[in-house]
Amino acid sequence: MSQALTLNIGWLYPNLMSTYGDRGNVICLQRRCQWRNILVNIVPLDQKVNASCFSQMDIIVGGGAQDRQQEIVMRDLRGAKAEMLKFKLDQGTPGVFTCASPQLLGHYYESSSGQRINGLGLLDIVTKHSGSKISRCVGNMVFQITASPLVEDIKEISGKNPVIIGFENHGGRTYLGNVQPLGKIILGYGNNGEDGYEGVFYRNAIATYSHGPLLAKNSFIADWLIKTALKEKYQKDIKLANIDDDLEKQARKVILKKLKLSSSM
Ligand code: GLN
Repeated sequence: MSQALTLNIGWLYPNLMSTYGDRGNVICLQRRCQWRNILVNIVPLDQKVNASCFSQMDIIVGGGAQDRQQEIVMRDLRGAKAEMLKFKLDQGTPGVFTCASPQLLGHYYESSSGQRINGLGLLDIVTKHSGSKISRCVGNMVFQITASPLVEDIKEISGKNPVIIGFENHGGRTYLGNVQPLGKIILGYGNNGEDGYEGVFYRNAIATYSHGPLLAKNSFIADWLIKTALKEKYQKDIKLANIDDDLEKQARKVILKKLKLSSSM
């Protein structure tokens, strides 16, 4: 009998970084693997582990955090763990990073009090609070994925132009340098409420302001992460068994209708 497929899912600081339902992303990945008989190990990547633990991960998930928690995480990550995380993402380990997590992967995050938390500098982005009247960007968000080759890959999985439904809640405004945005905003603020872009796509890492949780509302992203992780690990294309997503599809239609957007998205 051939050996069962196994994925190690590394979860960045679960106790410090799990705002607005972000732990749902880990649960969604776990369940969609288990339904397909893919074994899953969920590994907290926190203060208790060292950098070599990071090196064994096949998917990395990072959620949102409040500013204070963000600072604690950054202090712990600095050094060998930060280097390993950078190395993994550079090598193409797939990951999904929400809100505070992408801010940490960028050059810096400047809080409303003007305090600067230096990031890992892996993504060419900076995040700062604005002096504008709208102090936080809060609400439902919808955006179209435009990043390549993600958009083509997802079209293959879902047969559609990928439109993401989520929820955002952030004070920081993110500005992109030499890195491609994840998508274009249809509804909401996205990266900064000015340029119409949302998120970042780097190698196989998805960085976004979409909480929600993102993967439960947009299961094709979960399947893309699983498929990509299997391909990276086993060096071959593995076809994922279909899962009955009818309920999720109905939920998407209801949300889009409520937001007065076309239900065919
Ligand atoms: N502290 C960050 C901001 O407000 C991140 C918030 C979050 O992760 N939800 O921009």
